[in-house]
This record gives sequence, C-alpha cells and structure tokens, in this order.
Amino acid sequence: MRVSIIGAGLAGSEAALQLAKQGIYTDLYEMRPEKQTGAHKTGDFAEFVCSNSLGSYDITNASGLLKHEMESLGSELMPLIMDSQVPAGGALAIDRVLFSKKVTDKILSNQFINVIRREVTSLNTESPIIIASGPLTSEILSISIKNFLGEDYLYFFDAIAPVIEKDSINFDKAFYLNRYNKGNKDYINCPMNKEEYQNFYNILINAPGIELKSFEKDANFFEGCLPVEILASRGVDTLRFGPLKPIGLVDERTGINNYAVVQLRQDDKQANLYNLVGFQTNLKWGSQKELIQSIPGLENANIVRYGVMHRNTFINSPKTLNPTLQSRKSPNIFFAGQITGTEGYTESIASGLLAGLNMANYINKEPLLKLPAETMLGALMNYISYEGHSSFQPINSNWGILPPVAINKEIRKNKKLKKEFLAKRAEETLKNFLNTI
Ligand SMILES: Cc1cc2nc3c(=O)[nH]c(=O)nc-3n(C[C@H](O)[C@H](O)[C@H](O)COP(=O)(O)OP(=O)(O)OC[C@H]3O[C@@H](n4cnc5c(N)ncnc54)[C@H](O)[C@@H]3O)c2cc1C
Repeated sequence: MRVSIIGAGLAGSEAALQLAKQGIYTDLYEMRPEKQTGAHKTGDFAEFVCSNSLGSYDITNASGLLKHEMESLGSELMPLIMDSQVPAGGALAIDRVLFSKKVTDKILSNQFINVIRREVTSLNTESPIIIASGPLTSEILSISIKNFLGEDYLYFFDAIAPVIEKDSINFDKAFYLNRYNKGNKDYINCPMNKEEYQNFYNILINAPGIELKSFEKDANFFEGCLPVEILASRGVDTLRFGPLKPIGLVDERTGINNYAVVQLRQDDKQANLYNLVGFQTNLKWGSQKELIQSIPGLENANIVRYGVMHRNTFINSPKTLNPTLQSRKSPNIFFAGQITGTEGYTESIASGLLAGLNMANYINKEPLLKLPAETMLGALMNYISYEGHSSFQPINSNWGILPPVAINKEIRKNKKLKKEFLAKRAEETLKNFLNTI
C-alpha cells in the first residue's frame, strides 16, 4: 500500500523518511517551486521560512528536551540538523540552505519516495494520507480539508493571548473569582488601582509592535479578537470597558472596587497554565514581558507562550485528532506539522516523526504509538487533542504542559532543579516506553 504525503516541509519530509525507513512507499507532493506560499523562497524541501534557529538543545530546556526525544525516536532530520550547525551561543542554529539541500538530496535519492511536484487540490479520503501542508496550506487544499473536517474545524489566523505558568503568580495580590461570583472560582484575577492602570497603559501605548508580513496585511481580524494595543489606541479607558473591566470582580479579602482587572483563564487540563483573557497582542516579546510584569500579581510571571498574530492555517485538533495524530473521522488520514496546532520548527519535525511512525504502524496493522504524557512530545500531543479547551490555539513545547510531579518544596521553588527533574523523568519514561514496544 502507498501513502500520500501532502507537503515536503519540515513535517512531511520527516514523515516520508520515517515511512521509507520501514520500506513503505510514499508519493510526496510538493507544490513549490511552481507555486510559492508567500514565505518560502526556494523549491527545496524542509525550508526554514524565517529564523535559522531551532532554539535550545539543552535537555533542561523544553525545546531541547523535545530534540533529545526526537533523537531517541529515530528522527531522520535531526542528524542533518546537527550536520548543518552554525555557531549561535546556546542555541541550535543551522545553515538553512545547506540543511534544505541535505534533506532534498536524501529524499530524492530514496527509492521508496516518489516526489510529485504539484499542488494537491483535493483530498482522496479513501487512501492513506498524511496532511503536512503547513501554516500556509494553499487555499484550494484548505477548502478540501475544511470539507473533510467540517465547517468550523479549520482556522486561518493566530490571534493568541500570552500564556503563563500558575506557579509564577503572586496570590498575595491575585485572587480566584468568577465575575459576579457565578459558578466556581475558575478565573484568576489581577486587580489594578488607577495609578497601576495608568502605568500599564503608558507601557502599552509606547510599546513597539511587530511588522506584519505582506501576505498578512490583508488580515481581517474579528472585532472580538483585536489586539490589546489596538484597543488601547482607541482611548485610555477602552480596555477598562472591554477585557479589563473590573465590574463584578471584588476581592473578598479587601472589599475594594478595583479600577481595572486582568483575568486569567485555565489553559490546560492540569491547571498549570493560564492565558490572559482578551489579551491578543502583536507586540514584540520584550514589550509583552514588560507589560505583563507591570500587572499586579504577575511581577514574576513566567511566560510560556507569547501572544502572536499571523497567518496560520491550523485544524481544530481537540475535536478532530487523536494524540496519535490520526484523524478521528477517517483512520487512514493523519495530520502532521504546524497544521495540527504544534507551533515551531522543532515541534513540526517532531509531529512529522510521530505521524510517520504511526502511519507505518497503521499500514502494518500494529498498535499506534501513544506517547507517555511525561514526555514533551506526548504532552504536546495530549495538549492538542484535549477536548476541554475553551478556545484552542497553537502551542510550542513548554514545561507547563507536563503532568505535575510530587516533588519537595525545595525543588519546586528552584526552577533549574525542577526542569532537571522533569527532563530526567521524561527521558526515563520514554526509555521504558520504547523498551516495551
Ligand atoms: C511566516 C512564518 C514564519 C515562521 N517563523 C518561524 C520561526 O522563526 N521559528 C519557528 O520555530 N517557527 C516558525 N514558524 C512556524 C513553523 O515552525 C514553520 O512554519 C514550519 O515550517 C512548519 O512546518 P510544517 O512542516 O508544518 O510546514 P511547512 O514547512 O510550511 O511545509 C508545508 C509544505 O507544504 C507545501 N504545500 C502547501 N500546500 C500544498 C498543496 N496544496 N499541495 C502541495 N504542497 C503544498 C508547502 O509548499 C510547504 O513546502 C513560522 C511560520 C510562518 C508562517
């Protein structure tokens, strides 16, 4: 049986090589160079569209841990990345042209991979397919994916509010309460007095934003999804009457009617992560940090995900995918890469790796791999396929998505020790898991 893979980007290339390693033939469809995406520049495979850095390789960094897991799982692209490295301090950066050439050569010379240079315009949902067409999936294919999944299951823009770790919130200032005391105490509230709000507002209106790319400038953002900086530019009180309205949020401890309140909503099953409600932003990351840490209670906030706004095609994975990357609707269809809601170069390759392994198992009629939640890749897969998100937005690897550990107070308070502990747990769990299959 042949597998079709749509997109020879980071995920599609890794998936094709994984299948080839197991002797499974693939037709790998790539529309470039004939048709470009707006961000890619070449016709080579696995092109890095923006930065040439994959972040850290240090195992005590969330992205670094993911890379180590990919090596343990037999990633085909990781050795090529290591062979294309350029000096970049603590980061793993590469010569992107060299890397893409290496990937392209490896694929073109592989007898199990048949490269077809054309745009896929419709899905043949009867045969095995891995859809890895990325954040800039061509329009006509997007329509076909939408028809397959259903009207509300494909999104085209990220409008993401920052996400922070609950452990880093100062609860001497912040408090749990739902507006008007309705239901449970689900929300975390950070109250501001007039002076604190004025300071926050000044930082916000003076902060530099990120230039949108030409293909993103036509974006029609919904009024309900406007970035905070745009709301702030409409007047000093717009936010106080919008997402930061204080009404119905009186801290029982003080009884004070606050001037403004920033609310945080649970973002993950384990309640380790919270997003800032209505806080979509396109500010530069340094400015976001300064702004967030000016909010009372968030002075030491550990930001695991910064706000972004850019074009990004991604599916509603919590409603459509299993943690194995298999479609719930059709077992012969898998998704991989950024289109699944895993964000970043490393994450895209990692999900291509898992999709390749699982498609091979599917073809060979073997059980699919459901990676342990304690591993970074397993946690990412659980996150994107978790049905309880109030609104799903893409995520990259971070410590907050791992299940909590029973550790003593000393380790919990020491970030370095905690990461070492979590990394070791992930490594050992993956090793044991791989020994059992
Ligand atoms: C502008 C931009 C900048 C980014 N910058 C970074 C960054 O600096 N760091 C980072 O970690 N992440 C970044 N990302 C996020 C993400 O890591 C990359 O987009 C990554 O390349 C995603 O990998 P992928 O395999 O899912 O998709 P891609 O690598 O984009 O691969 C998808 C492939 O599918 C092809 N394709 C699309 N539609 C069709 C079709 N109909 N038929 C045939 N082929 C098709 C495309 O040509 C492409 O080659 C960025 C994303 C964007 C959009």
